[in-house]
Amino acid sequence: MESPRRAAAETHIIALPFPAQGHINPMLQFSKRLVSKGLKVTLVTFIDNELTKAKHGSVVVESISNNSEENFKISTMEDYWRNFSSLVRQKLSEIVEKQGESCCPISCLVYDSIMPWALDMARELGVAAASFFTQSCAVSAIYYHVYKGRLNIPTDVDLVSLEGMPPLESCDLPSSACGLEKNCPAMISLMSDQFSNVGEVDWILINTFNELEEEVMNWMASQCPLKLIGPLIPSKYLSKRLELDDSEYGLSLFKPRTNSFMQWLDSKEASSVVYVAFGSLASLEEKQMEDIASGLKLSNYNFLWVVRESEENKLPKNLMNETSEKGLIITWCPQPEVLAHKSVGCFMTHCGWNSTLEALSLGVPMVAMPYWSDQTTNAKFVADVWRVGVRVKVNEEGIVTKEEIEMCIREVMEGESSSILRRNSEKWKMLAQEAVAEGGSSDKNVERFVAEVTCNIT
Ligand code: UDP
Repeated sequence: MESPRRAAAETHIIALPFPAQGHINPMLQFSKRLVSKGLKVTLVTFIDNELTKAKHGSVVVESISNNSEENFKISTMEDYWRNFSSLVRQKLSEIVEKQGESCCPISCLVYDSIMPWALDMARELGVAAASFFTQSCAVSAIYYHVYKGRLNIPTDVDLVSLEGMPPLESCDLPSSACGLEKNCPAMISLMSDQFSNVGEVDWILINTFNELEEEVMNWMASQCPLKLIGPLIPSKYLSKRLELDDSEYGLSLFKPRTNSFMQWLDSKEASSVVYVAFGSLASLEEKQMEDIASGLKLSNYNFLWVVRESEENKLPKNLMNETSEKGLIITWCPQPEVLAHKSVGCFMTHCGWNSTLEALSLGVPMVAMPYWSDQTTNAKFVADVWRVGVRVKVNEEGIVTKEEIEMCIREVMEGESSSILRRNSEKWKMLAQEAVAEGGSSDKNVERFVAEVTCNIT
């Protein structure tokens, strides 16, 4: 009989993330975990820069050419997906052709759950398929209820009661019309369609861990079989074992202008810096940027603020002159590296799922300032379920005022609840580390996936 290790080495996975930063990052980390268990993984991406050539823990990265940008200058969502899927199909057949000549044909396609059509491609190739969810289990459950027709978003009910979750107000639901939120029906149907063919996939994988979402995970597991495999953040932050062959920035769509922020962080006292970042997509109003700048100044804490190049023109003009000692504004950074820095005491975040998981796993309390999509639900859980942060209030004009920002930062850094938030953050950090450590819940689930995918093949 073939040894499991040998069978694993002959098992070739194609990983297909949706080409947004918050989808690429967890897929790359999952790919690395599979490689560490002996599998061969090729990750297909639309990024075509020097980072795709960097080492990613032996994950092979195949780029779909940059020309694809031309193909995406199109008007409707249907057009977008048609072009997108035809480029992916073409790339997959190239890879299959290449692999046909080697001894390691493709065994399984792991695709982003917002692209359910990829299941057809897996079936055309005659390989197994895993749908990979990059949002929390709670958010997945909410979209599942929408898909089943049991819940409307936006809702006209004051409080929504769903299995395994606390009562949710409309502003806690994804993409609801609340405060900063922009309600978007196309987005809701894109997200609920993640469930359109889950009955036919071989595996459902979710980037979270059992201990973090036990109740809702139990309920979801009663509806469809799933495996929780997170938190998918670079393993060097979760264990002492350093991945020396790793590219610092992963597969990044953005680049920092300078690297001086690490020295700046080194020069600050422990837990004295507020790190501010709103992910890769959020685009704030100019007025909101002004209030953030003023709120940070009023709080009088050191701050490191990520403002992507495309957002820089919204910054108040004289901000840096007034705050040069206290504050640093950068265009991008390796976020987990910053969150793991001892000088960072608080993370003001939009609560994108990756940012939330990174803060939870690195023990950093949060000021939750959600913008849209699943961020509102994540903020609800950060403040009221995991109790690792406070959530900002939005005023009638849809703005979080400078006074509110100052108050929330002070609460997390030094307020009455500060010590509880820190204690809880430490607890979740430890549980996250245990989940991915050998024999932990997520590690076992990855092991099971590897065993099953390998069995399928041999
Ligand atoms: N990120 C980063 N550097 C930055 C800002 C963000 O590396 O300066 C990463 C962050 O660590 C996370 C991802 O970008 O992994 C953003 O994903 P998230 O789900 O938090 O938000 P999204 O960008 O999807 O809104």
